[in-house]
Amino acid sequence: MTGITLVQGDITRQSADVIVNAANSSLLGGGGVDGAIHRRGGPAILAECRRLRAGHLGKGLPTGRAVATTAGDLDARWVIHTVGPVWSATEDRSGLLASCYRESLRTADELGARTVAFPAISTGVYRWPMDDAARIAVETVATSGTSVTEVRFVLFDARAYEAFAARLG
Ligand code: ADP
Repeated sequence: MTGITLVQGDITRQSADVIVNAANSSLLGGGGVDGAIHRRGGPAILAECRRLRAGHLGKGLPTGRAVATTAGDLDARWVIHTVGPVWSATEDRSGLLASCYRESLRTADELGARTVAFPAISTGVYRWPMDDAARIAVETVATSGTSVTEVRFVLFDARAYEAFAARLG
């Protein structure tokens, strides 16, 4: 059974089998979580992302999909990069956000990972409302059927932490 835990803090300081990155489709770095992971994880992560772009991900990683790389200098075995959808007030993209969590856990299962740390995907630059993002994240993980034993949501600030805590009840 998967246990869901919550931590307020910086995901790059976590110890886990997998640290999930809220990447963009280029896989070549960005701001927010992405920037922090590449800064603290060192150049090995970007080097592997470049190799993926030169290989089967020539057009980049599609929204809602996930791919694993080394975790470089992070205290983890792998980074799983996933691309969240940009929030839209006119189009329901919640299936894509759920897919980020599902595909990340499927990839983690393939790797044999036991502990996975997630940030609140799409809630930064991509502007997804925090309460709704928390609902989708918790529901999707709870119904995923993953073999991962601990899914840890690492929330950057108190507001994000409270939104996830409210969903866990
Ligand atoms: P996205 O482009 O998917 O919106 P962001 O990285 O901009 O991704 O933001 C996703 C969430 O991660 C936001 O809630 C942001 O506050 C949070 N965040 C930013 N840096 C970190 C970090 N180092 N650790 C954990 N969460 C972070």
